[in-house]
Amino acid sequence: MGLETWIRDVPDFPKKGIIFKDITPLIGSAEGLREAVETLRRRYAGRGIEKIVAVESRGFIFGAALAYALGVGFVPVRKPGKLPSATIREEYALEYGTDAIEMHRDALEPGQKVLVLDDVLATGGTLAATCRLVQALGGEIVEVATLIELCFLNGRAKLGNLPYYSVIQVR
Ligand code: AMP
Repeated sequence: MGLETWIRDVPDFPKKGIIFKDITPLIGSAEGLREAVETLRRRYAGRGIEKIVAVESRGFIFGAALAYALGVGFVPVRKPGKLPSATIREEYALEYGTDAIEMHRDALEPGQKVLVLDDVLATGGTLAATCRLVQALGGEIVEVATLIELCFLNGRAKLGNLPYYSVIQVR
């Protein structure tokens, strides 16, 4: 079965006009979860990746599973005020106003090879800010990946020249 079959569209969540891509049927299925993580593992095995950097909160689900499957470490990127030790911060634009994300200052060493991961690429603001955090610490981004890409929002453009991969494309 295609992974798409486990993605549920929820109209008007969290607000009117948004079709929310709900991954809970996929992660609730032993087969779906394994297939999603295996697809990513097959792509990234042997690429020299040393850390998975993933974004709160759904990125953690796939990020931690993939890090375990690849035998590498996991770095959480979180909303402000959630990480306990010294952090670096990046802001990014929302439709109205700005938001920010943080990562621990000591999460990466310069030159470490990193895969940046989230569940969905929408406008790309969150992942672009995450990449700036990685680069600020000298991490080398091997690729940016999401399970789902909302192609019509062209979030790829925000990632500039960074290589990007999505498992499922929504057009
Ligand atoms: P972005 O606009 O790319 O910065 O997306 C911000 C975050 O919102 C991502 O981490 C996604 O998980 C989430 N997100 C945005 N749009 C959707 C959507 N239509 N369905 C599910 N998650 C979404």
